[in-house]
Amino acid sequence: MKNLMAHEAWRLVWILAIGIIAGLISSHFWAAIAIVLLAYCVWLLHHLFQLNRWIEKGLKRSEAPTSSGVLENIISNIYRLKTSKKRSKKRLARLLRQFRASAEALPEATVILTTLGEIQWLNEAAENLLGLQTPRDIGQRIDNLIRNPEFREFLFAKDRTEELRLASPVDSAVKVSYRLINYGKERLLLTVRDVSVRERLDRMRSEFVSNASHELRTPLTVIRGYLEVMSEDKTCSDEVCEKMGIILEQASYMENIIDEMLTLSRLESSELGAAEGEIFSVSKILQKLVADAVQSGKAAAGQITINADEKLCMLGIESEIISVCSNLLYNALQHNPELTPVELQWFRSGSSAPCLLVSDDGVGIEQRHLSRLTERFYRVDSSRTRESGGTGLGLAIVKYIVQRHGGRIDISSTPAVGSTFTCCFSKTRAVKCDDEKNQQA
Ligand code: ADP
Repeated sequence: MKNLMAHEAWRLVWILAIGIIAGLISSHFWAAIAIVLLAYCVWLLHHLFQLNRWIEKGLKRSEAPTSSGVLENIISNIYRLKTSKKRSKKRLARLLRQFRASAEALPEATVILTTLGEIQWLNEAAENLLGLQTPRDIGQRIDNLIRNPEFREFLFAKDRTEELRLASPVDSAVKVSYRLINYGKERLLLTVRDVSVRERLDRMRSEFVSNASHELRTPLTVIRGYLEVMSEDKTCSDEVCEKMGIILEQASYMENIIDEMLTLSRLESSELGAAEGEIFSVSKILQKLVADAVQSGKAAAGQITINADEKLCMLGIESEIISVCSNLLYNALQHNPELTPVELQWFRSGSSAPCLLVSDDGVGIEQRHLSRLTERFYRVDSSRTRESGGTGLGLAIVKYIVQRHGGRIDISSTPAVGSTFTCCFSKTRAVKCDDEKNQQA
């Protein structure tokens, strides 16, 4: 930089010197200096115009104007900037090509959308699975191409953790699972997987369990019937009578397991529409369950308290909600010491969802078990729960029923303090009890 300034300063000094000499020789001192300076300005302007033309023509190296001093430096700097920009552009283009090639190769259909649902890019799998086409559908709103109210709701939902399963828009026999992820500024990544095989396997498993349970139930009923008749015959020796009692108990236990497996299969194989069901009072269900528990001696009077909003009714399958309430209540009684205080609540949460809460001041459950409690046959202490007649399927059934009613179950517990099971259902399940037309609250 310093060199350049010195170079230009020397050039000016030389020009001035030429002007002075020319002025002295010609005896028109100022006129000579003015002419020399004017010539310098013209020379400068000429080079600036050349530079401008070169820039406008696309900065080709072969056409770069020849100059010296600061102008030469400007030309070489512009050229350097151009080549480094070209290099980074090439690198970016290469990266973009690699990204596109890998996204193209993904077996999952991938679509990049704006937050308004406009398609920006999609891969080949998306064309096959969703029937979209490039470039025809680029810029189109995806909810105009995949016409389904559930899909539209999913696209604009705030919660992006859920996945949506629907028939493929191309082939109704193919089931696809949609997932949506927010990324970058105002962009959405939609991934779609073919889950037909998994669905078929799930269905086969469920049908197998259902069929096996049905097949086992009939002979077991016969065995239990005969056992009951035989155990009424008091002529047996003490030892035989005792063993008969144990066999009968185990047969009943097996029957309970089979019944619950059949319940689970039934819940799995049928879907519940968002507005399906009857309207009933959850408060009354809780009162009846508590009265039954006290009457049967499973709970002491005053052991269970109820805090229920009597004006809040529910739209759903009453028998299923009875099953949820009784499973949670009997768990609180069976898995805790006698006289453990239990509280039942039925209320609207802050977000207006109707919620059932069952809490106890019992033994509690260690944190590591909590996420697994709703798995089939998962028990915290299998030997103890089997003694109490627990099948290990109760909470799995509760979870399924709550999900069918558009809700979820949350479990919190602290060892030696107690446990709380909260089931919050979809808002649309809340109904005012005293509303004659039973409109949604
Ligand atoms: P079960 O038929 O054994 O009751 P569940 O699926 O209903 O099966 O419950 C799973 C396990 O969770 C139970 O075996 C028990 O160990 C534990 N559990 C459930 N509710 C409670 C509770 N209120 N307090 C302590 N443990 C509980």
